[in-house]
Amino acid sequence: MTIKKLLLAALSVGAFMTTSVSAQNWDAVQVRSEKVAGNVYVLFGAGGNIGVSVGEDGVFIVDDQFAPLTEKIKAAIAELSDKPIRFAINTHFHGDHTGGNENLGREGTVIVAHDNVRIRMAAGSFIKAFNNRTEPQDGFALPTVTFNDQASLHLNGEQTRMHHVSNAHTDGDSIVHFEGSNVVHMGDTFFNGRFPFIDVDSGGSIDGVIAAANKVLGIVDEGTRIIPGHGPVSDKAGLMMYRDMLVTVRDRVAEMKSAGNSLEEVVAAGVVDDFKENYGAGGEQWPAAFVSFVYNSL
Ligand SMILES: [Zn+2]
Repeated sequence: MTIKKLLLAALSVGAFMTTSVSAQNWDAVQVRSEKVAGNVYVLFGAGGNIGVSVGEDGVFIVDDQFAPLTEKIKAAIAELSDKPIRFAINTHFHGDHTGGNENLGREGTVIVAHDNVRIRMAAGSFIKAFNNRTEPQDGFALPTVTFNDQASLHLNGEQTRMHHVSNAHTDGDSIVHFEGSNVVHMGDTFFNGRFPFIDVDSGGSIDGVIAAANKVLGIVDEGTRIIPGHGPVSDKAGLMMYRDMLVTVRDRVAEMKSAGNSLEEVVAAGVVDDFKENYGAGGEQWPAAFVSFVYNSL
């Protein structure tokens, strides 16, 4: 199989970054909540994990999955709080994290994100690796409050700080730190239990993903709970294991690439085989796709 065919096969297995949602059976999707710590809950449905802060001041969320799920998401949140959703933070521009923006924005939720999230959503995007195009968006779909480095929300009795991490999963990622609750939402800079998608066509890079993990490891403690973009809630030990995997794979791929090996040769060398047990959940083709993201960003 050529690398291109391999990537297309991988996409069909792990179609978690696409907004082409026609094939999805939304009626079958269940949105369920789980308490994380302090004020914070997580919602699992289809697409990126949603962080939810509930308290006296109202509700704010981190990421909003796909538009057809907005009503189910609102119903799950209504079980936790009868207050309105005041803010929605987008960890990055991908449609499985921002698809609910338009529905929520129309009802008065303020959408907050890094500057590049708005820029990429307004321009439309094309991910060459997957031949995946997203049309330009406007109006309520776009973040109305954007920042370039950090921003904070002061709600529900704690400071929640958004830290931009550069050129990681994309060029517009934020990690969100609920400081009082001792919870971090890492967006897609952390895939728990599977090799990550790194959107190299949108400014992502393996070194940036490693740097994001190191940044979070520097601000958390043993008791911190960490919400990944995809997969179950984790902690500092889980993130360290993930970071170590990324570093090992990066070093192996870099060595082979600098020795003149092609991408096909690096994939064939099985540079991620010893990590498949812990990170192989993305499907059979996904490890090779991950190697290609690493290779292409070095
Ligand atoms: Zn993503």
